[in-house]
Amino acid sequence: MAVNRAQRRLLEKRGRELLTHGIDLRPHVDDAAALGSAFFSILATGRANAPSDAARAMLQCLSKVHNAVTPKEIACRGGCTHCCHLFVSATAPEIFLLARSIDEAAKQRLLATNRQTHPMSIEERLRAIVPCPILDGGLCSAYATRPTSCRSTTSFSAEACEGAIRQGATIEVPFAVPPQQARSTVLTIFRAALRAKGLPIVSYELNAGVVRALEALDAERRWLAGDDVFAGVQIDSASLSMRADDVAALAQRFA
Ligand code: SF4
Repeated sequence: MAVNRAQRRLLEKRGRELLTHGIDLRPHVDDAAALGSAFFSILATGRANAPSDAARAMLQCLSKVHNAVTPKEIACRGGCTHCCHLFVSATAPEIFLLARSIDEAAKQRLLATNRQTHPMSIEERLRAIVPCPILDGGLCSAYATRPTSCRSTTSFSAEACEGAIRQGATIEVPFAVPPQQARSTVLTIFRAALRAKGLPIVSYELNAGVVRALEALDAERRWLAGDDVFAGVQIDSASLSMRADDVAALAQRFA
């Protein structure tokens, strides 16, 4: 369904409001299309850093939603890093934004940790309990630009998180559901914008992804032009099927 110029102007106006104020957990399809159109417009500027700009806008929108829906009783606090020992994945724009944000010390830790984690499967990573190299002194050194997966893993019990890291799946963690729903909603809309622009919508393992973004010359501009700069980086298999039909249907509404 092609949109005409007047419809696009309306979508973009509403999309800018949603970028600023956030979106409902289960938005009306017109609002979902409007927010997708706002992300699409940022990607379509063609600027070399358009993917990171789009990721920043998406994370700010998700932050608004999280602020509105995250229960006050969650146990997550500064200095608690159990979930920073898990396998983390992110979309390419989130990875580019993180690569632009981390300091030199984090880059050096990332290069060293990636040599250890790059060949590992998700199961091997969970058994090895490797801390994220972006951690510094028990805190995320790129907190403002951490990926959606880091923002949405919130728990009511730090003890259960610690037990799950040490004992694997035998411990059930009481996760808060609304922050995960918020991520699913906003990320699905973001992925629809990527799809409408003809860009990959999958998520990549974070360490290897950021290393590639740092090492490949002019990586962000080349990715935007269709070059697969993440070839060979492990793809999170969950991202291949995550609401794929919703992504495709929504992309049709504003492409
Ligand atoms: S990016 Fe930050 S929040 Fe995410 S796993 Fe690494 S240290 Fe933790």
